[in-house]
Formats: sequence, C-alpha cells, structure tokens
Amino acid sequence: MSNTDRSQANWALAVKALREIDAIFGSEENCRLIVLAKIAECQKINCRRCGNENVIPAALVRKFLCRNCKKEISLTARTLFHRAQKFRYRLVMLELIARGIVLSANQQAEITNVSNDTINKFVQKLAFGAVGLMKDFAVEILSVFCQPAVSRRTLQTPAGEPPYAEEFTLQKMTTTQPKQENKPDDYNLEGLSEKEKSVFDLVSSSAAPIPFDEICQKSQASLGELSSSLMSLELQGLVDRKPGDKYEISTKHHLPNTLSISNAKTIERQQRLAKNLVYFVKDHYQGIGRKYEQLYSALYWFYHDRKRWTFDSLLEFCVSIEYIRNQEILDYVTPLSFKIVMLSGTS
Ligand SMILES: [Zn+2]
Repeated sequence: MSNTDRSQANWALAVKALREIDAIFGSEENCRLIVLAKIAECQKINCRRCGNENVIPAALVRKFLCRNCKKEISLTARTLFHRAQKFRYRLVMLELIARGIVLSANQQAEITNVSNDTINKFVQKLAFGAVGLMKDFAVEILSVFCQPAVSRRTLQTPAGEPPYAEEFTLQKMTTTQPKQENKPDDYNLEGLSEKEKSVFDLVSSSAAPIPFDEICQKSQASLGELSSSLMSLELQGLVDRKPGDKYEISTKHHLPNTLSISNAKTIERQQRLAKNLVYFVKDHYQGIGRKYEQLYSALYWFYHDRKRWTFDSLLEFCVSIEYIRNQEILDYVTPLSFKIVMLSGTS
C-alpha cells in the first residue's frame, strides 16, 4: 500500500464511505438487481437472432426467451456486465469513482473483496470504453509530457520499436524543427544488414545525391549486392532514388507535421495538462507503463469530472458499452499523442 498522505486520506474516506455504500447496495444479489434494473430502463431489447423487439419482463431476470424465435436473450449481453458473475465490487468501484475517492490497486482489492487483478481489469475496461467518448471533451497532448509518470518500460510501443527508439522519437517531438535537415542520426537503422548500413552511411555522408556508380566504387560491393541493398533501403523509406540513378537520404522519413509542435503556448498548455495527470498517477499509482497513459487519462476524467460522472451516469455508461475482452486491454497501446479532458480549474 502506498504511504503518500493523499493515499491515506483517501483510504480514510473510503472506509467511511463503505458503510454508506453497504447500506445502499446491500447484498451481491441486490447489486445484480440494481444492474438489471438499469438495463431494463430501456424497456425493450432486440433479439440477436431474429431481430424481434422484445419487451423486457417486469420481473427482473437476467435471461428470457425471445417471443418470436425462442432464442435466449441475455439482458447483460451487450453491456460491460456481459458474463459478469459478481456485481457488487463493480458497483462499489463506480460509487468510489463518483465520490472522487481514488484508491491504489491494493486498497481497491481490500475494500471490494476481490483480487487486484479482477479490479484492475474492470477499471481498465471502464477507462478503455471511455476513450472513444473523450473526443468531444478532450484535447490532444503529446505523451512525452507525461513521461514523469512512466515508471515501467513497456515492450510494445506505438511505432513497434524498442522503448529506446521510441523515447528518442518522443524527445524529438518537443524540439522545434525550423528546417527539415536530413541528419543520419534521425533514422532508425535497427534491423538493417551490415551491407545496408554501410550503403546508408555512404549515401548519408554525401552532400549531394550520389550516383550509383560512385556508391559501387566506394562500397566495394558487387552490383547485385548493391542493387538489392539500395532497393531495400528505398523500400524502408530510408533513401530516395533520384533521376540519373542517384541516391540521397530520404526526406519522407520525418515525423508527421501534426505531431511536431512549434507554438510555445501550445507546449505550455500541454505541459500544464500533463502535470495534472502526472500528479494523479504519482499520488495514487506511483507509476504506470507508457502503454496505458491514455487509459489513466480517462480515469483521471472519471475521478475529477464530478458533474458528469455521478454513480448513475457511470452505471448508465457501463450498460451502454459493449463488453471489452481482456485481450483488447493487453493489446492497447497509447498513441504518441493522446486525449486528456480539460477540466475547469485545471486548464
Ligand atoms: Zn428472436
């Protein structure tokens, strides 16, 4: 358990809240009924097989038969509660979020009586579901500004490159690029063969486009070897072929313009927004992997947007989004720029 003051204060709040929460939610069975009642508010549900519109029975049962084709209809099928066996811990989490009480994974597990893993998965799915919704409220910031919150290296990176290469790319993004100069250092040469590397070196060290014959002479490679190396470099976007069978280092290899920042005000605003998220992560989770920055940004929104995220709106949200598989969370990687909601008072 974390020892930060904030974490301890939240723990005290949670323990106090739990008494009220227990009084509201009661037993596991009661929690199940709360969820089913929420889904039943929409009154009708379409059969997945025949499309028939069925009226949801007044007596709250999770499964009933389609009036038309007799296929079993599950009330929770198209919600985040699909296949759910336990409901209470989910409702407790929603209530804690609605109260803005942020707990560490261990504290969450303790207060809900389920494992760290179970609670993490639920919370991550909740966040994952919210990412699509964020676009109407959020601004885009470069993930590099949240670097202080990142304590774990992740193997997967948006570029599919090793973490080192990605960090290098991230650093580059925050530096302005007044002129598009082609420096060999900017290129990712990982995975190139020795021959390709030496050919690339020759091309990049030449001030002007270098003719094929000259490369051939200097590289002492056979014609066949050289042709295939140049072809490979060209396909990887590292060199460009010019008229007259000349080669130069590629200009297309630069970062997309949308990601490079040139405006000092924009940088300042992004840094300010990022700082809030970094504090949130450090206070409550110590550190996260870069891979999940976007999900924690969604969580930050849940916990801090008290007007929007009441218990009721959170529950409504849960029954309005499709079930999310564990694999989708595992596969998720925060893009190099991601969304963060600007909240009043924090912008
Ligand atoms: Zn049917």
